[in-house]
Amino acid sequence: MLAYTYIEHGRFGLLDKPKPELKDSRDAIVRMTLGSICTSDLHIKHGSVPRAVPGITVGHEMVGVVEQVGSRVTSVKPGDRVTVNVETFCGECFFCQHGYVNNCTDVNGGWALGCRIDGGQAEYVRVPYADRGLNRIPDSVSDEQALFVGDVLATGFWAARISEISGDDTVLVIGAGPTGICTLLCVMLKKPKRIIVCEKSSERIRFIREHYPDVLVTEPEECKEFVLRNSDHGGADVVLEVAGAGDTFRLAWECARPNAVVTVVALYDNPQILPLPDMYGKNLTFKTGGVDGCDCAEILRLIEAGKIDTTPLITHRFPLTKIEEAYRVFENRLDGVIKVAIAGK
Ligand SMILES: [Zn+2]
Ligand SMILES: [Zn+2]
Repeated sequence: MLAYTYIEHGRFGLLDKPKPELKDSRDAIVRMTLGSICTSDLHIKHGSVPRAVPGITVGHEMVGVVEQVGSRVTSVKPGDRVTVNVETFCGECFFCQHGYVNNCTDVNGGWALGCRIDGGQAEYVRVPYADRGLNRIPDSVSDEQALFVGDVLATGFWAARISEISGDDTVLVIGAGPTGICTLLCVMLKKPKRIIVCEKSSERIRFIREHYPDVLVTEPEECKEFVLRNSDHGGADVVLEVAGAGDTFRLAWECARPNAVVTVVALYDNPQILPLPDMYGKNLTFKTGGVDGCDCAEILRLIEAGKIDTTPLITHRFPLTKIEEAYRVFENRLDGVIKVAIAGK
């Protein structure tokens, strides 16, 4: 089968590999019908994910059809259309039991697919703990509608969930890339009084204005001023930092009012400084880290009910055989790309 593979630092290639087989009674084999490319895939390509092993098939954002299941898999069966979770989790350890599935202590716990074990930019993928990692897609939900459930949308949903947003709040979302937009959609579900998005790319600003006209938009240089003018208590009540640029962490806490929640979703290339003397007395609460992707069933229900729609994010479509071209467009941010969809066989 075709499998897009991490060959060496800076190089991926579409190789012919054997179709994966069940290795454990809780595994499933899924035929990929639609996949996507994530910025994390690019991080692997450029060597900033040391855990990623050369030779692995990359890709961790996909939906597909269950082809085969192990004897202990009960929640899905061959023929089911499913979303695949970016995270592998056992459901039984201390962290899983508390909903912190990102910290699952299983040997494959956390981000394994397309990083430490073969992923889904391929015709088939083996999914461990299939009862946890796969969610059935309702009949009325298309593959394109479900494509981001297991990764970027799960991240946005989790970020909005932990940010303690209320109806009186002014919420600032920094960054309108794919994860930023997914975060925005999930913040919108909480119906805060006001949402401000800070973004520097004019293409992405245009996208936000076109699709979400009720959202206020500002650019990084004016952000602090803009938030002050458009909030009730001297800053945003909640800030979600999804940009991960050089100065956006500082911007996030500077735009927060005293006693605000600042949720850091972004993954930075460099260490960030927490200048405690400068923020003394602001009494901020910081929440940080990686998604606990355990809300996929609920996210699918919200999509089915028409409450979340991420299909506008799919700006480009390619078959698996043209994945090289899909990467070129996504990596170089050509032609206004936000997300690509890669069709399997
Ligand atoms: Zn990802
Ligand atoms: Zn676990």
